[in-house]
Amino acid sequence: MINWGIIGASTIAKQWMINAINHCTDSQVVALLSQSPERGKAFQEQFQIQRIYSNLHEFLAHPDLDVVYIGTTNEYHHPQTLASASAQKHVLCEKPLALSLSDAKQMVEACSTAGVVMGTNHHLRNAVTHRKLRQLIQENAIGEPLAVRVFHAVMLPPHLQTWRINNPNAGAGVILDITVHDTDTLRFILDDEVESVIATSSTQGLGQHGIDDSVMGVMKFHRGTLAQFHDSFVIGHAGTGLEIHGTEASLFATDVMTQRPIGSIMLRRNDHIEPIELPPPYNLYERAVHSFNQAVLGNGQPAATDHDGLQSLAVALAVKQSADTHQMIRVQYA
Ligand code: NDP
Repeated sequence: MINWGIIGASTIAKQWMINAINHCTDSQVVALLSQSPERGKAFQEQFQIQRIYSNLHEFLAHPDLDVVYIGTTNEYHHPQTLASASAQKHVLCEKPLALSLSDAKQMVEACSTAGVVMGTNHHLRNAVTHRKLRQLIQENAIGEPLAVRVFHAVMLPPHLQTWRINNPNAGAGVILDITVHDTDTLRFILDDEVESVIATSSTQGLGQHGIDDSVMGVMKFHRGTLAQFHDSFVIGHAGTGLEIHGTEASLFATDVMTQRPIGSIMLRRNDHIEPIELPPPYNLYERAVHSFNQAVLGNGQPAATDHDGLQSLAVALAVKQSADTHQMIRVQYA
């Protein structure tokens, strides 16, 4: 049994991650660290967690702890990963890995030096839809991918209208929250890296102190694919989607930029439209935990690695810089 500890009594831990860890046959949650005794107790009761801590070093000393899942607000990912690595714990860290590329690089190096596995919790690449899109591109089903359009504009639920819209120190804003996911998903599907970006952002009703709640932009990939993206916290009725237009055909994926295992894909060639058959859907986070557990056991890599987290952060930071400076930005990787 692989024993996981959770840092942060967060929404993502409560809604997805603790259940995902406990549902995998080879892992269980044994400890939780929270700054709030009330939240800690509520989590303990709801999920039957052995032990709740309020001190990071005591938490890391929990007997037989193997893996730490870091689901705190973004500014804590860096110090908590460094502490976990120096305690010889494997780390699955939430996105964005950190607020700067140098911090993220330090996290990756610390885990590598400690000889522990580090992964990034980019869930979307676990979806059957995105995996099928990647497969179709690799099988040349649409020829050369020329253009992509990503629709990831949603309404931020009221219970999440907190640090994301008002706390710059926590890495607020839609770019570090959503554009990182678009980046990882497109890198995964296209098997290519972003070369440059141009973007513009706006505050359209939720962002405070000038924090962006909406962004539109274009990523240019090394092989020439142009990807247009719209990410937002204030669009309530659009649904999400992803289109890939190739030299021979186009793919239209609907309702796929989401935490839930839903969505469909159509392939269009001239006027002929055919639905793409998908394997049975599964929980995206359970797949992430399963692959992380396997990596801990020495079998392969996490679904999204530490390197994937570095790449998506580099692109998101470039998008932010482009929106702030009104310039096209060449992505600086670590
Ligand atoms: P939350 O705002 O729910 O929680 C963040 C932290 O705030 C918690 O760790 C908790 O710390 C504290 N907290 C929780 N509830 C409250 C409250 N009511 N009042 C004050 N503090 C509270 O964050 P999310 O779960 O939305 O996001 C956490 C991380 O996960 C972020 O890095 C985010 O980017 C990422 N994320 C990833 C997703 C994915 O699909 N990969 C999806 C959603 C988020 P403590 O217990 O120590 O007090």
